[in-house]
Amino acid sequence: MAAIQALRCVHAGCSYPPNELDYTCPRHGELGTLDILYHYAALRARLDRDAISADKIANHWRYLPLLPLEADCQLPPLSVGGTPLYAVPRLAEHLGLRRVWVKDEGLNPTGSLKDRASSLVVARALQEGLGVVATASTGNAAAALAGLGAALEQIDIVIFVPASAPPAKIVQPLAYGAQVFLVDGSYDDAYELCTSACAEFGWYSRNTGVNPFTTEGKKTAALEIAEQLGWRAPDVVAVSVGDGSIISGLYKGFWDLLQLGWIDKLPRLLGVQAAGSAALADAWRAGMTAADIKRRAVNTIADSIAAELPRDRSKALRAVRETQGAYVTVSDAQIVEAIPLLGRLCGVFAEPAAAAALAGVECALNEGLLDRDAEICLVSTGNGLKDIASARASVAPPAPIPADLAVLRARLEGSDML
Ligand SMILES: *Cc1c(COP(=O)(O)O)cnc(C)c1O
Ligand SMILES: [Zn+2]
Repeated sequence: MAAIQALRCVHAGCSYPPNELDYTCPRHGELGTLDILYHYAALRARLDRDAISADKIANHWRYLPLLPLEADCQLPPLSVGGTPLYAVPRLAEHLGLRRVWVKDEGLNPTGSLKDRASSLVVARALQEGLGVVATASTGNAAAALAGLGAALEQIDIVIFVPASAPPAKIVQPLAYGAQVFLVDGSYDDAYELCTSACAEFGWYSRNTGVNPFTTEGKKTAALEIAEQLGWRAPDVVAVSVGDGSIISGLYKGFWDLLQLGWIDKLPRLLGVQAAGSAALADAWRAGMTAADIKRRAVNTIADSIAAELPRDRSKALRAVRETQGAYVTVSDAQIVEAIPLLGRLCGVFAEPAAAAALAGVECALNEGLLDRDAEICLVSTGNGLKDIASARASVAPPAPIPADLAVLRARLEGSDML
């Protein structure tokens, strides 16, 4: 319902009228991803953050006045967003920080933050009468797009996932009735195939990076965080990074709010990458540009952040640079350890890529990148039920016992449960 003012290429600032392009800047290709810009002065005059706070809509459509859809557009029926932001004093104490919040994105309808992007893309497809929407995915974007499209007769969903994705992430889109192709190869191979298929068959591409509506969808997580804190930004927002689309969406959300004068600063963004998939972290440390980043082999247990060539690299580097943030890398062992830590201290069960954000905060504290006085929001991007096998490695399931009270009593000897 916010009228688009222009589409602006992130790489070189090339500007295009609204609706002229669906994907990237024709002059700069994948590096020239697009910002959707609004008439901020007009929005500022017309909109009131308190009116949004008073809105009864409990999902992300409460932010429709800040999203690039037409007023009468049909919205997909699943309820996306409106996820809790927990204050977690025990985690703050454990980390030696003043205040910590956890945003539990695993509570979205298909179990990850990806629902926010898919919801916007599906709404746009409905608005424009586009009948087939396709995506490549490490798994969560597939589930999200399939779920959001499931209840809609007008739209068919086509999914490309690596055959090696965790079973839940393959079963989920199938259960939602999507056409699923298991690609023999990496996520990046699936991505290239999906891109070619969209060009060949005229399908609408939800692919991360190229479709600016995904950024606008993911930005609603930032709008929510700010609103849940009483319209202010925390000092730091930590999130895991693969393609770089979530961190870019968070940046855009806070940036939009700053243009509106609804918050008074951007939070520092802390991007957390797996050591085995660290293209953006390495580029940031070396002071490289997005154009310098080359595709390379990756290896990590956190499949959702395994990206050989981060597709949203232009926006993802900007997000950290413009906010004086940082990138850190964490090992798979640190990621797995963070799963039960988040579970124990927050009651939030996270998949490896989501728990990585916590491992990254610990790492950033050790590296002196964060002030202990800072107020930090951790985004837990996906539900632990997505990948039980990895979580299992972190908890050491006990051996079975006989159904015998005496045996149980003997086992409990010395514990404080007796
Ligand atoms: C997709 C995803 C990420 C990473 O997001 P990018 O946009 O690829 O950086 C992190 N965690 C989870 C659970 C995800 O599904
Ligand atoms: Zn350009």
